Amino acid sequence: MNAIEVKKLNKSYENGFEALKNIDLTVKKGEIFALLGPNGAGKSTLINIICGITNKTNGNIKIFGQDNILEYKKTRALIGLVPQEIATDSFERVISTLKFSRGLFNKPPSEEYLESVLKSLDLIHKKTNQIRTLSGGMKRRVMIAKALSHEPKVLFLDEPTAGVDVNLRKTLWSYLNKLKKMGVTIFLTTHYIEEAENIADRIAVIDNGKIIIIENKRKILEKFGEKKLSFKIKKTHKDLINSIKIKYNLKNVGNRFTFIYNSSSKKDSAYRLLSDLNRKSIKFEDMEIKKSNLEDIFLRLVQK
Ligand code: ADP
Ligand code: MG
Repeated sequence: MNAIEVKKLNKSYENGFEALKNIDLTVKKGEIFALLGPNGAGKSTLINIICGITNKTNGNIKIFGQDNILEYKKTRALIGLVPQEIATDSFERVISTLKFSRGLFNKPPSEEYLESVLKSLDLIHKKTNQIRTLSGGMKRRVMIAKALSHEPKVLFLDEPTAGVDVNLRKTLWSYLNKLKKMGVTIFLTTHYIEEAENIADRIAVIDNGKIIIIENKRKILEKFGEKKLSFKIKKTHKDLINSIKIKYNLKNVGNRFTFIYNSSSKKDSAYRLLSDLNRKSIKFEDMEIKKSNLEDIFLRLVQK
């Protein structure tokens, strides 16, 4: 069963601004799904509509097969949301805010569960602190703990690592993977390509309110990925390489040549290039192969 289904979703704000245009997407149970896009693309609008905080203009949304508006109470209980903006000035204590939040969803009290969440997020030593006394990164983790307080099946995180240092980012990624293993479906937005590349199973790219690609991460890398082979040849061999340069469309700066080829092609054209060099007795050195990462691909896709 799909954890999330969004069909033909549109959103125009009161001032007429069209923030989402015909969004279709599904997220499978147990997936980590990343919605990637620049600022203003419509990520928060989409997440807030799915969670029932912002009204849609038209379209349909289902959470585990149930309409998110007709069955608001049921679907809301299945969802945990970590919003983009974090509340910072609360005088409330960490544990009491979690207990309160859990109570809102009519879950029986379980200090044991809440403590296990705090432990996993490395917050247990702040259990009785007032939230306002915590650091920014800790406050963000409290928001995550709060979103998990009622044991949701789907966790939404809106830019969970914006402005968070590298260490905490990595801790969070491994925690999200742990939640995934426990069967929680994760939907996160991010403008860090690196984040999507690191933890997502599937990635959607949104730009100007439109989804421009939605695909398994591995497939994106295969389909759009390139490899760059570069090597140096001897100065005295420069004339010998001319026909090969044309055949393989090599680029060069001085004696350093680069060959760009599609990494998904089964026949390895790099191998053929190297054997052509051999046949002409062109000696090469300093060979390097670079695979494109999601960032290279993303830049090429958005430029199109
Ligand atoms: P993201 O989260 O990807 O940065 P948002 O979903 O917050 O983007 O915003 C998408 C677009 O919708 C932006 O151009 C933003 O200015 C606009 N927008 C957001 N909220 C409102 C609103 N209440 N009224 C009008 N326009 C809005
Ligand atoms: Mg946003």
